[in-house]
Amino acid sequence: MPGPVVALAGGVGAARFLRGVAAAVPPGEVVAIVNTGDDHPFYGVHVSPDLDIVLYTLAGRIHPERGYGLAGDSFAVVDALGALGHETWFRLGDRDFATCLHRTLRLRAGERLAAVTDGIRRAFGVETHVLPMSEDPCPTFVTLDGGRRVHFEEYLARDGAPDDVRGVDLSAARAARPAPGVLEAIAKARALLVCPSNPVVSIGPILAVPGIREALAAARAPVVAISPIIAGAPVKGPADRLLRGIGVEVSARGVAGLYRDIARGFVLDERDAALAPDIEALGVRTAVLDTLMRDTATSIRLAEAALGLAASLE
Ligand code: GDP
Ligand code: CA
Repeated sequence: MPGPVVALAGGVGAARFLRGVAAAVPPGEVVAIVNTGDDHPFYGVHVSPDLDIVLYTLAGRIHPERGYGLAGDSFAVVDALGALGHETWFRLGDRDFATCLHRTLRLRAGERLAAVTDGIRRAFGVETHVLPMSEDPCPTFVTLDGGRRVHFEEYLARDGAPDDVRGVDLSAARAARPAPGVLEAIAKARALLVCPSNPVVSIGPILAVPGIREALAAARAPVVAISPIIAGAPVKGPADRLLRGIGVEVSARGVAGLYRDIARGFVLDERDAALAPDIEALGVRTAVLDTLMRDTATSIRLAEAALGLAASLE
């Protein structure tokens, strides 16, 4: 029995890529290890943005334009809360609310986050295994000009991702334990992928959990990362502001540098082909292709390229 394909994942970029991975290999042989640094209580329920984006996408239920939340969802609960005077900048849909309320009730009953997540996975008919990086609270904070410190979701959804980022605080992840199954999956993986996710606030927290970086370095399978930066800019989201905020060049080269101690392979976009020699000079083998995932077919092509690079490094 060959080991699973294991992928470190954030939200939207990861989910689009995982859709390709789960089509390129049998989905039951894929394990996604998902960032929980974005988790936050909203309206009394435990919201896990990245876990739910991955699950909804793999279930074919994601809102296609937004990339988060459920297709066709309504917003009666948040709107009613707004009418009662609550702040409603976090737009949680009604059915999405039910997922998060379910998670909250199970956690309150003593079930652990990995088991709750697995139950949601089965209820949504998803075959890909989805693991939280940790079951401990790991909130990611962003520090801004003047030392102001906000939770990542406040930075992104409430404040609109301003560009005066001075740093990112992953201290909670640094004190957390990997969820059950995480280190085991990495150790027995046949390929290890780092999804085209935000390197600072999606992959950064996963790598900050003690033991995960070490497990990747010790794993028998090679690690291959995919650049979320195309032509010097993120496809979507604030990766540029966060990379700049931690003093890293906003480029495929900058991202490859962040992963140089774990990745043996790196997939970058053809628009960045000129950077491949610099990345190879870090001791990282590269593959260059169109990495923009427009649909399932392009996601599958990207997954196959990453898996092909991993196979060539064995
Ligand atoms: P989030 O948690 O929802 O922000 O999702 P992720 O961290 O998983 O993904 C965000 C990153 O995905 C951004 O930096 C995007 O640039 C990247 N991304 C989104 N779509 C694509 C794509 O089609 N190709 C590539 N290469 N990167 C993408
Ligand atoms: Ca996220």
